[in-house]
Amino acid sequence: MIAQSFEPKSFWMSTQSYTPSKTLQKDIFVDVAIVGGGFTGLSSAFHLKKSEPEIKIALLESQIIGYGASGRNAGFNMTLFGLTMSFTAIRFGRTKAREAHVYMERAVDTLHSLVKGLKIDCDYEHPGFLRVATSEKYKKRILHEIELVNSLGIKGIEWINKEKLSEQVKSPNYLGAWLEPRCGLLNPAKLSWGWKSIIESMGVHVFENTSVIEISKDRDKLCLLTSNGKVYADKIVLATNAYSHLIPELKQKQVPVWTYIVLTEPLNQKHFAEICWKNRQGIEDARNLVHYYRLTADNRILMGGRDVSFAYDLDTNLDINSDTFNLLEKDVLQTFPILKGIKFTHRWGGPVSVPVDLAPAMGYLGDKRVVYSLGCLGHGVSLTHLNGCTVSDLILDRKTDLTDVFFVNRKTIPWPPNPIRHLAAQAILGYMHLEDKIFDPKE
Ligand SMILES: Cc1cc2nc3c(=O)[nH]c(=O)nc-3n(C[C@H](O)[C@H](O)[C@H](O)COP(=O)(O)OP(=O)(O)OC[C@H]3O[C@@H](n4cnc5c(N)ncnc54)[C@H](O)[C@@H]3O)c2cc1C
Repeated sequence: MIAQSFEPKSFWMSTQSYTPSKTLQKDIFVDVAIVGGGFTGLSSAFHLKKSEPEIKIALLESQIIGYGASGRNAGFNMTLFGLTMSFTAIRFGRTKAREAHVYMERAVDTLHSLVKGLKIDCDYEHPGFLRVATSEKYKKRILHEIELVNSLGIKGIEWINKEKLSEQVKSPNYLGAWLEPRCGLLNPAKLSWGWKSIIESMGVHVFENTSVIEISKDRDKLCLLTSNGKVYADKIVLATNAYSHLIPELKQKQVPVWTYIVLTEPLNQKHFAEICWKNRQGIEDARNLVHYYRLTADNRILMGGRDVSFAYDLDTNLDINSDTFNLLEKDVLQTFPILKGIKFTHRWGGPVSVPVDLAPAMGYLGDKRVVYSLGCLGHGVSLTHLNGCTVSDLILDRKTDLTDVFFVNRKTIPWPPNPIRHLAAQAILGYMHLEDKIFDPKE
């Protein structure tokens, strides 16, 4: 059974065939139940099994592995935590901003070494990352961020000027860039499905098309109700990220926000010669509502970002936004005019998890039997992989350098109920748009 019906969810899901595991059909007893088959759930299962090979784990996914953001993202393995480092420093202070960055560096390195060490076939490349300045004001913003990075004693990020940048990649819009060689790129659906094979080979029981409808206490255990069976567990991991508002206890910790992607046909020799994307780095600009773009393994350009959508209430499917898709296609041509006439072959969207203060949160929920992790925004590919290790330490009740990090067990600011929540979200978005317009009036 190939996941045909999920191919429209992202181009990545059409790059490999996939056979889902069975649906849960009876009551079972486990030590740990993991809800959610994205990178958070998968890496939590992996790290738990690695630490305690005898532990009995069931991972329950309502659709298929990678159905959420993990199978649809742009595949940047990168160090950004929250919105920007300046914003994190304002919200949490300079020391914690540094701590967050160090955690993210470790996250990027962890993912890179796991992919290499376990030989996960996910088209991994390690070309580095560029944050490009597309106006004088954005140049100032990036230079300010680099100053902050330097003042915090962080190494490995430098400014390259317009001329040097044009030796890496050419666009009439670029005035220079933040260069960060530590980062990589990958195919996220292949990575998700690669993880599934690994954790199954370690003895994790994976159930797909198995939605957890309700969680309660029963027979001294936690009981997860699904359509065709119950899972009795001593402990639970809620790895539901942008879908967490559907779980009553997590409802106010985050809202789902949709971001969109368009994809071109493969570039030809002439395009390559002209754009000269020599080192194939992943690229973002410095807008509040960033554009993110990269080359795929078969040399298409993937571009996402620009605008986002909020659901008013419990909707979990705002995957299509024709206006944003159309504008993104124009943005590709505006960035690389040589591509005039190129065909766009794919469009998709996916949800990211956004707490009020735009920073991740994880920890115990109520008592130590339930651990949650959410709020990765659009930068969770690396983060979720290290968070899986942190989740494992929390579940095993081990105090480690990871569980000591400031955003573990932090007090989150609750999103207010609707309609105030929706108005607040629209106001934040409106402000971001306005500032982007001021920073680059030609947009
Ligand atoms: C379009 C897009 C582009 C992005 N680009 C990047 C990028 O380039 N780099 C980067 O670092 N980050 C990026 N991100 C963010 C990144 O993809 C996420 O932060 C990360 O994948 C989150 O992983 P997760 O496992 O926490 O959540 P998810 O992958 O969303 O997994 C949650 C899973 O839980 C399941 N679930 C929910 N409720 C239930 C239930 N009741 N029962 C059973 N299962 C349930 C869902 O079906 C889902 O599969 C992007 C996100 C999107 C949407």
